[in-house]
Amino acid sequence: MRVHHLDCAPMREIEPADGPESPLRPAPAAGHVLLVETASAGLLLVDAGIGLGDIERPSERLLDDWVEMAGPTLDPAATAVRQIEALGYAAADVRHVVPTHLHRDHAGGLSDFPDAAVHLFEAELADGGKTPAQLAHGPKWVAYADAAGETWHGFEGVRSLEGVPEDVLLVPLGGHTPGHAGVAVRDGDRWLLHAGDAYMYHGEVDRPEPVTHPLMDLVQAGGEVDRELRLANVARLRELARGGEVEVFCAHDPWELARYR
Ligand SMILES: [Zn+2]
Repeated sequence: MRVHHLDCAPMREIEPADGPESPLRPAPAAGHVLLVETASAGLLLVDAGIGLGDIERPSERLLDDWVEMAGPTLDPAATAVRQIEALGYAAADVRHVVPTHLHRDHAGGLSDFPDAAVHLFEAELADGGKTPAQLAHGPKWVAYADAAGETWHGFEGVRSLEGVPEDVLLVPLGGHTPGHAGVAVRDGDRWLLHAGDAYMYHGEVDRPEPVTHPLMDLVQAGGEVDRELRLANVARLRELARGGEVEVFCAHDPWELARYR
C-alpha cells in the first residue's frame, strides 16, 4: 500500500494558535485527503474534498454563506480527481471512497467518482448534515451498523470494509456529526488515523494540556451535534497520538498536513 497526502479543499488562511514563540507560519486551512494505492482493491480515497461540480456551481452545491465563511480557493487543480489524473491514474481507478462524514468540504468530490463504493456508518447516511445537491448523482453507498465492530487501539465498534483489505478500518468518532468516523490506514509498519473533523487543530491532541484554535473552535461549535461525545473522543485521540503507536491527524490543520508533504 502506498499512501499519498493531498489537499483537496484549500481554504482561507489561518494563523497558528501556539503563541508568539511558535515557529509555525500562517497557512491556508486544508482539506487533508488520503489517496491509497491498495494491492487488491484499486485506489481508495479517505475523504473526497471539494469536487469539480462544486467549483462549477458553488452557489447551488456549497452555498454562498459557506463560501464566504470558509473561503475555498475553488481551483479545479486541487480536486482529488485532477490530482489523481496528474499522478497518471484515471477517475475510474478509484473503486472506494471512505468519507469521514458528509459535510460539503468532505463529500463534494464524491460525484467525480460515481462508480466507487462509498463506505460509511448508517448514522452518517441517515443524518450527516448533508448538502443534497452534492449527492444527487446517487453514490453507491455501503453503510455499516454502528457498534457492531471490533476493538482497535482502545476504540470500539471498528469495522473493516467490504471488498477492501484489512489495512483500512472505519473507526466510530461521533460528535461532529452523528455518524462521523475516523479512518485508519496501515502505511508500512505504522498506522495512520485520519480523524476528519473530530478535532481541527493539532494543539488539541499533541500535548497534555490541549490548546484549541480560536477560529476553528468557533467553526466546530457551530457545526457539531454532540460536544460532550466529541470531547470524549478528542481525549481518546490525544492519548492515542501521544502514545506514539498511531499517527493521528485531522482534515483541516495545514501544519499536520505539512508533516507529510
Ligand atoms: Zn470539515
